[in-house]
Amino acid sequence: MPMKLEVGDIVDLKKQHPCGNKRFEILRTGADFRIKCLGCEKQIWLPRPVLEKRIRKVTKKEDNQS
Ligand SMILES: [Zn+2]
Repeated sequence: MPMKLEVGDIVDLKKQHPCGNKRFEILRTGADFRIKCLGCEKQIWLPRPVLEKRIRKVTKKEDNQS
């Protein structure tokens, strides 16, 4: 079942970034995703299947704003 992931969504990953943060913002979707670490602002490219496997939780953009 493919996940619904959109630009602006926040994802919690199973593995933390070297800076200690686990939350990332989706900047670009497609075959490859670009995500930004919310701890150190570093941007990372990941193939979609790899990202999907690492996701623990998705917070939709709409939920963030309300
Ligand atoms: Zn980081």
